[in-house]
Amino acid sequence: MEISKKTGFGTRAIHGGLEPDSATGAIMTPIYQTSTYVQEEVGKHKGFEYSRTQNPTRSALEKNLAALEKGEYGIAFASGLAAIDAVIKMLDPGDEVISTNDLYGGTYRIFRTVFEKYGITFHFVPMAQLEEIEARVNENTKLIWVETPTNPMLNVVDIQGVATMIEEKDILLAVDNTFASPYLQNPLELGADIVMHSVTKFIGGHSDVVMGALVVSDEALANELYRIQNSSGAVPGPMDCFLVLRGIKTLHVRMERHCKNAAQIAEWLKGQPIVDKIVYPGFKDHPNHEVASRQMLDFGGMVSFSLKRNRLEDAHSLVSKTQIFSLAESLGGVESLIGHPATMTHAAIPKEEREKSGVVDSLIRLSVGIEDVEDLIQDLDQAFKSI
Ligand SMILES: *Cc1c(COP(=O)(O)O)cnc(C)c1O
Repeated sequence: MEISKKTGFGTRAIHGGLEPDSATGAIMTPIYQTSTYVQEEVGKHKGFEYSRTQNPTRSALEKNLAALEKGEYGIAFASGLAAIDAVIKMLDPGDEVISTNDLYGGTYRIFRTVFEKYGITFHFVPMAQLEEIEARVNENTKLIWVETPTNPMLNVVDIQGVATMIEEKDILLAVDNTFASPYLQNPLELGADIVMHSVTKFIGGHSDVVMGALVVSDEALANELYRIQNSSGAVPGPMDCFLVLRGIKTLHVRMERHCKNAAQIAEWLKGQPIVDKIVYPGFKDHPNHEVASRQMLDFGGMVSFSLKRNRLEDAHSLVSKTQIFSLAESLGGVESLIGHPATMTHAAIPKEEREKSGVVDSLIRLSVGIEDVEDLIQDLDQAFKSI
C-alpha cells in the first residue's frame, strides 16, 4: 500500500517514509553508528559520505517526520533550539522577525542574546490578536514565528489567519508545533512554510532524548535548511534517531490518552474549592477556544491552574507533595510531570511582567501523562488535602 498524505495518522506514524533495511531486510531501521562510508572509487558511493551530512538512521527519521506533518522534507537537529537556530540563520542583518510575547523561554533567549547582535530585530506581540501582528509588518519583515499553544498559558494562535494576512508578502511563516504535536495540528496544511518541533517532547515521548526537527514542503527552502544543517553541524546521533523512530510508532495512541486524561483532570479541577483559574483550551471560557476547536483535533495534554489563595508557599508545597506527578521541567513524556512556572521555566522574567501574562505565584502546570487517570486524580487530591 502506498503511503500518502491521505493515509491515516497511525499508519503514517508506523510506516511513513520507512522501508525495510536494504542490506538485511531488518524491519526496524538499524542504528547506523558510523561516521563515514567506504567509497568504491573516488566519488562512487551509495549516497552516504560522512555522517554530519547524511546518515541512514537519520534519513529514515527525517522522512518519517515529513510524513507525520504532511510535508515533503524533514530536517533533524540535535535539539529543538538547534532547529530554531537554523531557521534564523537564513536571515540577513536588517531583517525583522515578529513573534509572540509569551514565547518559550529558550526561543526568547536565542533571539535576544544570540541573534540580535547580528543585526536581526525581533518584535514580541500578543499573537492571539491578529491585528497586533499586522501592525508590526513592514518591508523588512522576513519571518513570523508562531508558537501555539503557548507555555504555560496555552494561548492559541490562528495559524490560517496569520497565513492569509501575509499571503501576498515575501514573509516566511514558521510554527513551533511542539505543544500540539503533529497528531493534533498540521501547520503546513494551514498555510505555514516551516513547522518546528522540539522532538524532545511529545514526538519522542519517553523523556530519553533531546532532539529537534523542521518540516517543509518547498524544495528550495529545504535545500537552504539542509545546507545550514550540514554547515553548522548540529545533527542528532543515530542512536537518538532510532529511539525517536521507536517512540513515534505509538505517537497517535499516546496523544489520544494524553488528551483524554488531561480533559478529565481539567474537569476534576473545576470541582476543587482551592482552585482559582483553570487554563485549558478545551473549556468554552478559554479565550481562544473557538480557534483551538477549529485548528486542533483535540486539546492536548497540558493543563495549568492557579490557587485562590495566590501564595508561592502553597504552590511550592503542592508540587512537592505529588507522588505520581514528578516535579520536573519538560513535558510530553508518558509520565506525568508537575511544574511551577514562576520559579522554574519563567524565573528569569520579572514578576510584574510574568503576572501580566497570567503567570502568577500560584500557577501550576501539569504535563498529563498516560497513566491511569484515577491514580493521577487521587495523587492530586492527596496533595491538595495536604496544603
Ligand atoms: C522544549 C521546547 C523548545 C526547545 O527544544 P529543546 O529540544 O529543549 O531544545 C522549543 N519550543 C518549545 C515550545 C518547547 O517546549
